[in-house]
Amino acid sequence: MNLIDTHCHYNSYAFRNVHKEIYKLNNNQNVSKVINIGIDYNTSKEAIMLGNEYSKLYTALGIHPLCGGDVNDLEYLYNNYDNSKIVAIGEVGIDTECYDISMICNLINSIYLANKLKLPLIIHANTTKGSDINANKMVVEVLKRNTPKYGFVFHSFQPDLDVIVDILILGGYIGIGPMILKKNAKKSLEIVKNIDINRLLIETDYSYLTQNPDVDGVSIFNKICDLRNADKDIMSKQLDENAKRLFYKLK
Ligand SMILES: [Zn+2]
Repeated sequence: MNLIDTHCHYNSYAFRNVHKEIYKLNNNQNVSKVINIGIDYNTSKEAIMLGNEYSKLYTALGIHPLCGGDVNDLEYLYNNYDNSKIVAIGEVGIDTECYDISMICNLINSIYLANKLKLPLIIHANTTKGSDINANKMVVEVLKRNTPKYGFVFHSFQPDLDVIVDILILGGYIGIGPMILKKNAKKSLEIVKNIDINRLLIETDYSYLTQNPDVDGVSIFNKICDLRNADKDIMSKQLDENAKRLFYKLK
């Protein structure tokens, strides 16, 4: 197996000893590359440092909607540190857990920055139970008015048949993670089965989902192969190509 995990979080907030975790990752033959996602200034900066140190790690610079921070600081990081392994801006987006208007401003600023730096965007759109705001829809409305020129992915996509057509028309990708391993994942399974295979990316979101049963993405990969009735070698090549097409700086 030779998976590119397009979304995970290796940082000192998540792990008491992040180097120990990356050591395990380095020894895991199933994973060829991972994109280490920043959620604020500090984690973005740390991701750059770890990327310089470990060959499997690539970096995305982002201000998560539930974390504070200024998108301008990400531009500072890009311009003042080694940016050769910075492959995306994100994760950024909307989370209805404590929604406020600044999330929209941050999202728009992040799209401008991604376009300026010629990078794709990694989007977080989370609608909490009972919320009357639909995060997916809200992000799509922003994207329609502010096009990310170098593409985007809805990471850990909350299945939403209403917006998926819009996302695909806008050229977006869909990130599929551990949620497809859950028993109640009916809608996600439908999407994985039917979506244009060129738009699918695999991700573990490790270690954000603490109950994540699949640290290296192999179960997610196997599930995708099952659902699509696909040959594993062909699927592995396909997912690799997808990741390298969107995150074109991956080598
Ligand atoms: Zn994440």
